Amino acid sequence: MRVFLASGNAAKVREMQRILAEHVPDVEVLGIGDVDGYVEPVEDEPTFAGNALLKARAGVAATGLPSIADDSGLCVDALNQMPGVLSARWSGRSRDAEDGDRRGQDQRNNRLLLDQLHDVPDERRGAHFACAVAWVLPDGRERVVEGRMDGRIIREQRGSGGFGYDVLFVPVEHDAEGRTSAELDPAEKDRVSHRGRALRELAPQVAADLSRASQETSSAD
Ligand code: IMP
Repeated sequence: MRVFLASGNAAKVREMQRILAEHVPDVEVLGIGDVDGYVEPVEDEPTFAGNALLKARAGVAATGLPSIADDSGLCVDALNQMPGVLSARWSGRSRDAEDGDRRGQDQRNNRLLLDQLHDVPDERRGAHFACAVAWVLPDGRERVVEGRMDGRIIREQRGSGGFGYDVLFVPVEHDAEGRTSAELDPAEKDRVSHRGRALRELAPQVAADLSRASQETSSAD
């Protein structure tokens, strides 16, 4: 069975494939790069769930395959839960928004966030990552699940794993040792991450829908 993963962010796609593969074996995951001329929709909804649905619906429309999309971001208490849905472009729209420049964009976002929180004391540096994952089937059925990872923003960048704001974020589960989510190994991050939590909740439904679809196909043959 094949599903389409509607994301152009290679690091995010790797995380989603890894988490899904653990719970839904034998599934072939196609990405945006596998579809000629795929145009990503503009993410103009005010909520993570709205943007995830918009991306997954566009995936079904373009491929005819069951589609998964995630929308996620960092919500910082001292910034009234911003950057939120604007996380990817918090420092402004990249002049070169191709995937190759994602690291440059992450760097600019991280530097801006550090500046904005410069005078915020340690006890008010709470934040969480939020993630909505949408699952849309060609017959129009849809489901959205959400997950979050609580933690705090530190004062300097640490670690080389993950992506985005991981270098500035210490999850509560790792508060004692002070490791950022960029210092966790992939399995450790998946265990506590917003994306891991949301995808693990959705996985049984993905498995059930795909197995039903494959039974329908084989009984029609
Ligand atoms: P999206 O592609 O609009 O969902 O953008 C999500 C943005 O939120 C990313 O570009 C990152 O800046 C940030 N983000 C989401 N999830 C994570 C994560 O797991 N670690 C670090 N940053 C994240």
